[in-house]
Amino acid sequence: MVISANLGFPRIGPRRELKTALERYWSGEIGDGELLAAGRAIRRENWARQAALGLHHIPSNDFSFYDHVLDMATTVGAVPSRYRELGTGLPAYFAMARGTGSGRDLPPLHLTKWFDTNYHYLVPELDAGQEFGLESTKPVDEFLEGRALGIHTRPVLLGPVSFLLLGRTRDGHTEPITLLDGLLPVYESLLERLAAAGADWVQLDEPCLAWDPQPRVMRALPLAYERLAQAAPALRLLLATYFAGVAEHLPALCRLPIHALHLDLVQAPDQLEPALAAAPANLSLSLGLVDGRNVWRTDLDRALLVLERACDRLGGDRVLVAPSCSLLHAPIDVDLETGLDLELRSWLAFAIQKLREVSLLVSGIRHGREAVARALAESREAVRARRESPRVHDAAVGRRVAAISADMLRRSSPYPERRLRQQASLGLPLFPTTTIGSFPQTREVRAARAAVRNGRVRPADYDRFACAEIERAVRIQEEIGLDVLVHGECERADMVEFFAERLNGFAPTEHGWVQSYGSRCVRPPILFGDVSRREPMTVRWSRHAQSLTAKPVKGMLTGPLTLALWSFVRDDQPLALTCRQLALALRDEVADLETAGIRVIQIDEPAFRQGLPPGPETRKAYLAWAVEAFRLASSGVRDDTQLHVHMCYSDFNDVLEAIMEMDADVLAIEASRSGMRVLEAFRRYRYPREVGPGVYDVHSPRVPGTDEILDRLREALRLVPADRLWVNPDCGLKTRHWDEARPALVALVTAARRLRGEA
Ligand code: GLN
Ligand code: ZN
Repeated sequence: MVISANLGFPRIGPRRELKTALERYWSGEIGDGELLAAGRAIRRENWARQAALGLHHIPSNDFSFYDHVLDMATTVGAVPSRYRELGTGLPAYFAMARGTGSGRDLPPLHLTKWFDTNYHYLVPELDAGQEFGLESTKPVDEFLEGRALGIHTRPVLLGPVSFLLLGRTRDGHTEPITLLDGLLPVYESLLERLAAAGADWVQLDEPCLAWDPQPRVMRALPLAYERLAQAAPALRLLLATYFAGVAEHLPALCRLPIHALHLDLVQAPDQLEPALAAAPANLSLSLGLVDGRNVWRTDLDRALLVLERACDRLGGDRVLVAPSCSLLHAPIDVDLETGLDLELRSWLAFAIQKLREVSLLVSGIRHGREAVARALAESREAVRARRESPRVHDAAVGRRVAAISADMLRRSSPYPERRLRQQASLGLPLFPTTTIGSFPQTREVRAARAAVRNGRVRPADYDRFACAEIERAVRIQEEIGLDVLVHGECERADMVEFFAERLNGFAPTEHGWVQSYGSRCVRPPILFGDVSRREPMTVRWSRHAQSLTAKPVKGMLTGPLTLALWSFVRDDQPLALTCRQLALALRDEVADLETAGIRVIQIDEPAFRQGLPPGPETRKAYLAWAVEAFRLASSGVRDDTQLHVHMCYSDFNDVLEAIMEMDADVLAIEASRSGMRVLEAFRRYRYPREVGPGVYDVHSPRVPGTDEILDRLREALRLVPADRLWVNPDCGLKTRHWDEARPALVALVTAARRLRGEA
């Protein structure tokens, strides 16, 4: 009989209970006991909900107090020695996640993006001769905890291969996968213990196998899984791949000694047929038919057809149905979104609704379509309504997209000419100083925004407040002596939400939070329809700031890719087309800023690297349209308008060529944490533009001194010609306090001036 399954449930709680508990714990308000109890409460509620939905395979060990990769690192004893003195309890765990002390004396593990999602995991730090040992029984404990509640769960483990591939060796050249032999015994004893505790299925997540694995990884795989299979022969192992297809590796994966293979049929529907052909008689397939990381309702008719086809080929006993990936990336419950109109809400499915869809599909196949006829009809109607809705399709947007011409993707003159014109019009000194956009979001700034939002303050009064705040920011910058000023972004709570609220085609949610990392959650807006701009979005604030000063004020926009990737984006058209629509709306904003007298415009694309798919061919295609969208948004400006692009949050080395293709005049890029490593690559490519490698790590409360900044700049000067170097922080200062930001900027300006003296 077909089985319904889930790969992972959101762990933050429907009201962000995890965040609340963590913050209280970190502030010392509650102790270990209460935090652990909060975790148990979330797990119990998650299990109860999934059981009530009739799910057969309910995951355990999908919960985490911070991150599941960190959990696996502590479970297998991959704990760097610097944390050892803190023991093995929660303080050590959180030290690895966040560092210790206000000055962060003990630095945390490196945080980075989880594949192409906006979730961040902690990168396991491994030694060349790393020894592993089972140091935590969390997976077993949580299985037993579920059992005590009457819920028989399917424990989830990050698989050994992916665990290593997601890690990094301290020496930088030992390949983590070479540590597999030493790691496997820990997994073996973990599986033995799970079997002894009564588990029958165990899910091993191996997303790296869908992410263009190296040949040596594929070679190591059969033996590794042979050992795991033998460790606990009674256990059924389900190997889960997701976020992409496993491509040519499918036959090899089908030959592994596992009971089931999970495939993401939302990202890669085409892998079903080859899988049906390749699956040996003792292998079940878990079909990821419900999109685990987006918010749209499933086309159940279509999914049922796929499911029927799989059952015909394999027999129902060899089929499982599940979301495409863990629901970690989905908000929890659409029924909480009472602020959305009914029509839009009827198109959506969050985690709970997705599991209901999984259950429905399984009922439909077990008991026949008639048994679920009503639910099917309702779903069909919602899918149809969305497909045909005039709210989704705007003919004017379609016409504009169709009229995009090649010259709209090009600046009027090549860079050397633009550079001369910009030099003449801006008159900037050597090593110009600037910031990335936002200034500290003080309590007053946040309170004012909240007040106008809920009607406690009149818009006119709010405007006066914002104008005063902008004036304050301008004066501070003048005082400090920065060269290119910003207005400070006090009107924006979030760089995506702000634009989403002002563009047609987007809708906000009230409770649609998803975990970004640890206690940090984001609430991506829903991009449901064709995008267009109602009216200028940022111009008044930038114009006001420019009216207060003779120095150039930089206009500040979020780029098309970041707006799309940090939203729940429509799945009824290619992402490239959605980005083109966004780019057209931004292009109008760019033009209006220029007309308003703004001579420097920065477009932020921190998500540029995030969307990179696996595999060289798909990568090339992605980069081509991503660059094109950026150019469409930006290249309508005059030669003497200086265009900046800002990027952060990732390592950009493998997309540098694409960054050059974006053809911005100045690149402001995060670099202080990577120790200017990124610039090495710039030299290799002879980056022919101006660059501002961040010299102040804004994510740390530490205030850098002048000498330290000077050191970084001198280092940069070995790689970037003096007349191309800008001086700026890594990113926006919104999370800092003024008493950190101001002295840091003073140090930054002082360093630039000293360097000018030397030049
Ligand atoms: N302009 C934005 C800011 O300063 C950029 C934020 C980002 O890149 N993440 O806040
Ligand atoms: Zn940034």
